[in-house]
Amino acid sequence: MAGTKFDYAPAPESRAVVDLKPSYGLFIGGDFVEPADGATFKTISPASEEVLAEVGEAGPVDVDRAVAAARRAYTRTWSKLPGSERGKYLYRIARIVQERARELAVLESLDNGKPIRESRDVDIPLVAAWFFHYAGWADKLDYAGFGPLPRPLGVAAQVIPWNFPLLMVAWKIAPALACGNTVVLKPAETTPLTALLFAEICQQAELPPGVVNILTGAGDTGRALVEHSGVDKVAFTGSTEVGKMIARATAGTRKNVTLELGGKAANVVFDDAPIDQAVEGIVNGIFFNQGHVCCAGSRLLVQESAYDEVLGSLKRRLGTLRVGDPLDKNTDIGAINSAEQLARIRELSEVGEAEGAQRWSPACDLPDKGFWFAPTVFTGVSQAHRIAREEIFGPVLSVLTFRTPQEAVEKANNTPFGLSAGVWTEKGSRILWMADQLRAGVVWANTFNRFDPASPFGGYKESGYGREGGRHGLEAYLAR
Ligand code: NAD
Repeated sequence: MAGTKFDYAPAPESRAVVDLKPSYGLFIGGDFVEPADGATFKTISPASEEVLAEVGEAGPVDVDRAVAAARRAYTRTWSKLPGSERGKYLYRIARIVQERARELAVLESLDNGKPIRESRDVDIPLVAAWFFHYAGWADKLDYAGFGPLPRPLGVAAQVIPWNFPLLMVAWKIAPALACGNTVVLKPAETTPLTALLFAEICQQAELPPGVVNILTGAGDTGRALVEHSGVDKVAFTGSTEVGKMIARATAGTRKNVTLELGGKAANVVFDDAPIDQAVEGIVNGIFFNQGHVCCAGSRLLVQESAYDEVLGSLKRRLGTLRVGDPLDKNTDIGAINSAEQLARIRELSEVGEAEGAQRWSPACDLPDKGFWFAPTVFTGVSQAHRIAREEIFGPVLSVLTFRTPQEAVEKANNTPFGLSAGVWTEKGSRILWMADQLRAGVVWANTFNRFDPASPFGGYKESGYGREGGRHGLEAYLAR
């Protein structure tokens, strides 16, 4: 039966747990307020194109208000609280996230298009884990190796992407607050809803007003925020292109900057690897979250002697993946997040074919409405092909081969990025040698896409600078 799809009855998660409002304001100084100029935009479900809600679009006046609210909260309350008190708020937020996990997971899948299996089992549990982890650090900063009495930076401007909307909120806000900073955060324009629900959670946790401010809007709002003179720290996750603009705009200012940008990770499979396990890792590496993952294993490097076996197993496995309704608990691959992202994935895939690589997808029925892309594998890819060099940020795998470990390292490192990499082999010594040679911030061995709040994450080269997670993640929010 290998490669056969079993028939499953639909198992949709109920939408009733989510209380969607027709419109949402901006969260400034502890209250939801209308944008000064009344501008709004709509957020849709990428799986159905249904309008979910209207949200405020913050302009320069709103950015001023939010930064001022964050500054007041910083000087009057938050930076004066002992770490143990800040920790209590973070623990409270973590527990509320756990209590409201189902609601958050459904809302995330509705607004983002990711399968409920992932939002329920990966995103939301990690959000809680991140707050628990940094709650634990809040009263231990003096002993964290940053010298005695490390000080917060002040007001942090945080801009995040749409691929892990609430998880990126947690990655940004938890360490910032633990260290005594206050924040103004802008979620991505296609996925604002869980950040707004998070604002309600801050109210529920009775977080002092102004410690967390959430401004919805698009690129202009993000630019006004990171360029605001009242901001002490900028933390950005998103495209390398925008990251470079932010680096230029903040150069020569007092602002501390951390950038988490794109990637083009190599997932290297040696012929001694446990092949079934490696195939699961390849699938998880590139088809998790529709491939909308900065550290996705988008370049598969297979040792030539294992090529036929790996490709055969991979294709059989891909034939079993279910693409469709994100709220169905059986779904493996959900909707592409936006029409723009779908257009980019289609364009780069067409370039791949035009440049001579062979394109393959399993047979799968895609829904009529919404944004969908079948899992796709390109073989016969050379290092010069654009699909081997550029981040596609979709469910598209480029397969290359190698003969020797040295060749694998050279090919893996032949990229302007350096965020992550994977190694599959039975030899421990080879894992250590490869980890030493690969120019990537994270190297996974016999696994892929594993995240833990205690583990630092971040890139080299055009993948950005600074680390998030663990003790390293505190450094980005402390004055040295
Ligand atoms: P993006 O960089 O345009 O957007 C990320 C965030 O930055 C969003 O909140 C956006 O509103 C904001 N933004 C846009 N222009 C800005 C500006 N000039 N100043 C400040 N903030 C600004 O990324 P995107 O449009 O969402 O995706 C484009 C590409 O970026 C993707 O195809 C992918 O390659 C990459 N990407 C990477 C990650 C990652 O985690 N590394 C996440 C999402 C997208």
